[in-house]
Amino acid sequence: MNHERLLAELSAFLRIPSVSTLPAHDADCRRAAEWVAAELRGLGGHDIRFLGSDTHPVVWGRGPEVPGAPTLLLYGHYDVQPPDPLDEWTSPPFEPALRDGRLYARGAADDKGQVFCLLKAMAESGRPPVNFRFLIEGEEEFGSQVLFDVLEREPERLRADAVLVADMAYIAPGWPAVYSTLRGICYAEITVRTAKSDLHSGEYGGAAPNAHEELCRLLTRLKTPDGKIHVPGLYAAVRPPSRAERATWRKLPFRDADFLKRRVRARALTGLKGYSVLERLWALPTFEIHGITGGFTGTGAKTVIPAEATAKVSLRLVPDQQLKAVQRQLAAAVKKLASRYVDARVEFLHGSDPAQIKLDHPIFALLDQAFKETVGRGTVPARAGGSIPVVPALAKGGAPILLTGIGLPDDRLHAPDEKLDVKQLWDGIKVFRRFYELLGTA
Ligand SMILES: [Zn+2]
Repeated sequence: MNHERLLAELSAFLRIPSVSTLPAHDADCRRAAEWVAAELRGLGGHDIRFLGSDTHPVVWGRGPEVPGAPTLLLYGHYDVQPPDPLDEWTSPPFEPALRDGRLYARGAADDKGQVFCLLKAMAESGRPPVNFRFLIEGEEEFGSQVLFDVLEREPERLRADAVLVADMAYIAPGWPAVYSTLRGICYAEITVRTAKSDLHSGEYGGAAPNAHEELCRLLTRLKTPDGKIHVPGLYAAVRPPSRAERATWRKLPFRDADFLKRRVRARALTGLKGYSVLERLWALPTFEIHGITGGFTGTGAKTVIPAEATAKVSLRLVPDQQLKAVQRQLAAAVKKLASRYVDARVEFLHGSDPAQIKLDHPIFALLDQAFKETVGRGTVPARAGGSIPVVPALAKGGAPILLTGIGLPDDRLHAPDEKLDVKQLWDGIKVFRRFYELLGTA
């Protein structure tokens, strides 16, 4: 492997600020799609197409045809999360920087670095006897609507013997994982309106309702300090992990104190006390507030009683919860818990059901072997706290979904100073390469 050349190529990909949620970056998303398409052409791919959108297309392609060989669909995404707060980055998010064996950039681990591994593994010395299909999307961080529409219209794109999704991390350094569940997500804006217009806090303060105050009151009713979410019916569908799963989790190299100190970097962990931290992360729903807007937030002082305030919130969903039901439950809870003299409404921005994957197909043994031979340890079965909205739709094709990845838990996805350890990058290329070989000769 020519490390220098590969790092330069990955850096070119990372330099493209393909932030899918911000329309100002539409042209950048398109450029990232073109970067992927050029790579596929370089790998001898054909039938390369942009599907579903001009600005955030799904990049589709086929590798060289090998008659009689198994078909493997590779999934990844070229879009990234917004980089802010910018001043918390040690080096600028779209100027990849190498420090202490780590490559820092937005998208280094999520997911450009991993897409890079999937593709470069094909290029390493000769060609494994596998029929590759590529489905690299540009809206994963924004709900995957384009890909959902493509798969609805053209389900034949999913025809494969297996789907490899590389968008995940090891459970700890040296501990590769394969994932059996992903949490779903229900993203919403809750808006509270208290009056026709903003009011002067001297003239009306003390007697008029305040939208921010009412919104905060509503939010603290929706989740109490003990971590309990007060959305009626929310926990009813939650399936507790099996005894065997709990036993596996206890053996994983996960220590609460370490998690707090190195990864959360706060003073305490929060959440439902009767459950282990891994259970809170993997097997319970969440309710998080992402931002609150309304009123006056500029520099200086303005004495206003805001008439409207909005909170962006999301719930992560676990098996067997369903997005549609949770949306109904949240809307009903907001109506019930808001003060009766305010207008409270909920608007749903995007969402997905949780995903569940059975790990009993023989192909999982091949992935396990590829990791064992390459990094010295096979895959441990784990669950994921995050969401890849399109995974349940990918599973509809009937092929087993291998949810794995070469990131590490401290990669700081979606946060300042996102990075990928360079060793993981080289191991990733070798692991996927070995997996393709094992699949081709199985
Ligand atoms: Zn991702």
